[in-house]
Amino acid sequence: MNEEKKSLNFIEQIVAEDLKNGLDKNDLRFRFPPEPNGYLHIGHAASICLNFGLGLQHNAPVNLRFDDTNPAKEEQEYVDAIKKDVEWLGFKWDKELYSSDYFQQLYDWTIVLIKDGKAYVDEQSSEEIRAQKGTPTEVGVDSPFRNRSVEENLDLFEKMKNGDFDEGSVVLRAKIDMKHNNMHMRDPILYRVLKKSHHRTGTNWCIFPMYDWTHGESDYIEQISHSFCTLEFKSHRELYDWYLDRVVSSENIRPKQREFARRNLSYTVMSKRKLLQLVENRIVNGWDDPRMPTISGLRRRGYTSESIRNFSDVSGISKRDSITDVALLESCIKDHLNKTAPRVMAVLDPIKVIITNYPEGEEEFLDANYNDYEEGFGSRPVPFSRDIYIEREDFREEANKKFFRLKLGKEVRLKNAYIIKAEGCIKDADGTITEIHCTYDADSKSGSGSEASKRKVKGTLHWVSVKHAVKAEVRLYDRLFSDEDPDGHKDKNFLEFVNPNSLEVVTAFVEPSLKFVKVGERFQFQRKGYFCVDDDATNENLVFNRTVPLRDSWVKVEKK
Ligand code: ATP
Ligand code: MG
Repeated sequence: MNEEKKSLNFIEQIVAEDLKNGLDKNDLRFRFPPEPNGYLHIGHAASICLNFGLGLQHNAPVNLRFDDTNPAKEEQEYVDAIKKDVEWLGFKWDKELYSSDYFQQLYDWTIVLIKDGKAYVDEQSSEEIRAQKGTPTEVGVDSPFRNRSVEENLDLFEKMKNGDFDEGSVVLRAKIDMKHNNMHMRDPILYRVLKKSHHRTGTNWCIFPMYDWTHGESDYIEQISHSFCTLEFKSHRELYDWYLDRVVSSENIRPKQREFARRNLSYTVMSKRKLLQLVENRIVNGWDDPRMPTISGLRRRGYTSESIRNFSDVSGISKRDSITDVALLESCIKDHLNKTAPRVMAVLDPIKVIITNYPEGEEEFLDANYNDYEEGFGSRPVPFSRDIYIEREDFREEANKKFFRLKLGKEVRLKNAYIIKAEGCIKDADGTITEIHCTYDADSKSGSGSEASKRKVKGTLHWVSVKHAVKAEVRLYDRLFSDEDPDGHKDKNFLEFVNPNSLEVVTAFVEPSLKFVKVGERFQFQRKGYFCVDDDATNENLVFNRTVPLRDSWVKVEKK
């Protein structure tokens, strides 16, 4: 028990503390409140894992609440994508809810606020309102409309609701204190006029409540015990509480807002607004482009939900803003795929090798394990013949002793097959090598038990038989940004740091066992990395995404 307590993050500790102080376990209720104005990203995954994780730990319900108060930016497409992503991550929400479902209740409460003299209609422009707001060191100035009568406010607010005012011409403001230390308390806006169709309420409403007014009251309506949000809302907490004070009754749960640090990731940006710019400017091919830090992009890239949840665990929940190294995310997916992905052979930059002493027209099927180090993966037959492809970078005419691959006069082992020796090569007029000629040791077949099969040679290469090879498009991704913190430059826009070489497409040859793979299947291409079958793939037209590269570790493994 003590052990367990030590590992609680500070948010979990807050919940544990509240339970200790008498909060009934049955009153625990959490929510994840995305605004459907874009696809979810890996930052949201932190919040999802936190809230749904608490739900699982305490066997408490977690609502999925769409915070949809801005019809200008929100769409059904985003709602659907968000649901798919949360489900894919492996979480189940209790209720699917929408802030827009509470528009009537919020309106009714607003009428009470006006009647209590706590809200007024302001007919100034947004510039004027902003100018009167003051600064952290200077108090604000009262609006000339601040002391309107309750009747006048009720009448004007009714007109706002009926669409009698143009967008931007009036707002309803809470009447709090223009001299308040906390700028958010200086008569914040409650409602604005927006004459846009809302994805759920259509044209029923042309006044829309602001985030602060909506969020806390939605928490209250749903009887959320803990409302966790990111640090930028810390200074809003006072307003959150002021608004709650207007509506709570003592027999109900009073939601508690607490804040944690946003998750940021190096070499990317993490705001839906910015990600939308990448999509709209066609810098990427959509929200689910495998270079995007979106959950849908990571999924298409080949990330597993387990690896993303594990990343959330190891990166933790923190009180202070920081940037998490993307290498940590990459190590989480490598760890998972290392244990789960079958290992196969694919040549990404092929050069032809002719094994001159192997009989022409002959072929044989070699038994190859999907994983040499773990049980339970099984094996498949891999065809071998006189002409094979290897990687161009795996051959040199001459090289020093550290080059444990193929060079003239030296031997290497072909994975699952024979030892070959390079005898010569053919070049075109430009001096580019077009063909390598080798001989093979017919007794050295892997696993045959012969003396020669046990012979140690320094390097092992992957290969694919030319006659049996299947062509595939392989998409090699690099970081989308060349800067560690593209968003962190005062004088430069993040788009200036877009890496122009973030996608390289090559035509590869893969072993024939991959001919009938399915979209989303994941493999290790030996010595090359982890790859996933792209959504665009068909059996006639294979497409693989590189999830993450792999260090060439065979040399070390085989040496020990
Ligand atoms: P963005 O700036 O990317 O649009 P947002 O905060 O506006 O993010 P919301 O849809 O409002 O996005 O966020 C839903 C929930 O996810 C909120 O509780 C928010 O605090 C949380 N969240 C958003 N971004 C992050 C992040 N980078 N790290 C952790 N939690 C986040
Ligand atoms: Mg938001």
